[in-house]
Amino acid sequence: MTDLVIAHGLVVNSFGTRVAHVVVDGGRVTAVVDASEPVPAADRIIDAAGRAVIPGGVDGHCHIAQVTGPYRTLDDFAVTSKAALWGGTTTIIDFGIPRDRSESPLDAAKNKLALAREARCDVGLHGAVLDWDETVPAQLEELARLGIRSVKMYMTNRGTTMAENDTVLKVMREMVRLDGLTYIHAEHDAITVACTQEHADAGAIGIEHLHETRPELAEDASVREVLAMAEFTHAPVYFVHQSTPGAVDLVAEARSRGLPIHSETCPHYLVLDDGVYSSRFPEWFACCPPMRSRETVAALRERFADGSIHTVSSDHSCYDLTQKREHVEDIRQMPHGLPGVETRMPVAFTALLEAGNALSSPAAHDAGSPAAAEGSPGLGLLERFVELFSAAPARINGLPGKGAIVPGYDADLVVFDPAEARSVDGTALHMGTDFSPFEGRELRGWPQVVVAAGRVVLDEQGFHDPGPTGRFVSRLGYREASALPAPGSSSRGGEFAAAASLGSGEGK
Ligand SMILES: [Zn+2]
Repeated sequence: MTDLVIAHGLVVNSFGTRVAHVVVDGGRVTAVVDASEPVPAADRIIDAAGRAVIPGGVDGHCHIAQVTGPYRTLDDFAVTSKAALWGGTTTIIDFGIPRDRSESPLDAAKNKLALAREARCDVGLHGAVLDWDETVPAQLEELARLGIRSVKMYMTNRGTTMAENDTVLKVMREMVRLDGLTYIHAEHDAITVACTQEHADAGAIGIEHLHETRPELAEDASVREVLAMAEFTHAPVYFVHQSTPGAVDLVAEARSRGLPIHSETCPHYLVLDDGVYSSRFPEWFACCPPMRSRETVAALRERFADGSIHTVSSDHSCYDLTQKREHVEDIRQMPHGLPGVETRMPVAFTALLEAGNALSSPAAHDAGSPAAAEGSPGLGLLERFVELFSAAPARINGLPGKGAIVPGYDADLVVFDPAEARSVDGTALHMGTDFSPFEGRELRGWPQVVVAAGRVVLDEQGFHDPGPTGRFVSRLGYREASALPAPGSSSRGGEFAAAASLGSGEGK
């Protein structure tokens, strides 16, 4: 008798789809059995007929218990990981960012490792470097030994988290030596600082001006500069939160020349535009990069649907409205970042449906039209969603056993009905804050059943806190992970084909 079977669901992997029973035992998927076969005996059977079953989400970009200047995000690993599970994410990756220049990268990471023991889902960690000194290479080696195979650097935030170009270049070289990945926050600091100062001089420095102070060209210019350093050092680079089509296209151009570069975006850049800064609550949307113009959002969504963007991560940063409202008159003193680990799945899924429908059907180009909203998600879109939400973040970040539903992989599973729509109610969410930037938005893609490491943590009865069962996931090197056979290439995976259809046209 096995632990659990998810029966009769449409099992969606990034490489294919089939109606099948997913068999779970000892925390892992042990078999994916064709739905024409009898449901295997199990302690618990969950019927997923008419619903999609996807691998648990991997959120490669979360800030948990982060201290930046005078501010600290309000959640801890217990709260964030529970909210992640509510939202269909079963693995989160946090950052060990030194709180200031007196804390070493290694100490920052070790502090986070200690806090992460409270996590309810699996946790990975990125390192971060602010300044180069002769101890950095040994620290990076130690981080790699601990399973921390990536390092983030900021091209902006002078005086707090910014790394100078010399530092970025040297760390890239070290990461190549250690088979690691370099994470980059790309905004051109000199342009951003000058633009912000000009607005301050003109008295236009309140939250309603945030988008004007950090122009798109500052992001594109920084990506261009970093790509030159990546080409020079041969470093694999992952750009966090790309918000402009120009930045994404620069990555695509570099990849066309064989460079190992990756593009991430965040849910908010796909559905919110800079009109939010003239809305009633502009402080809800204080983040960097800021929301962009309507045209930019539309162009970014096309790239989200066509495969130019590789991952969608939350950039989860949990401040509450008291913190957000303290300095609305001066964006330089505001805490920037949005809560989002729990809403990543529905926001990204809805954006992908709308963008995908717009791409495939020019008549339905108005993404808000009822026709687009009610259209059945093509199988290509479900598979593409799994790629962005789970498979690619697992592969790029070197998380073996994550991101696919195949025998031997972790039993991290999400069951949802792609047709079910629900409105966001910030007060009903579970993150350590009191608002959601997506308040009132009608979204599809809400998890109904969530399984983490074989435990059912969310079902029709509600949430079942598994306690601090989250594991720290030691990651593989970048080339090491790239060299692994893709899960879909095995004989098991080969049984997946884009032949099934959800609900067989039952008006979904
Ligand atoms: Zn971030």
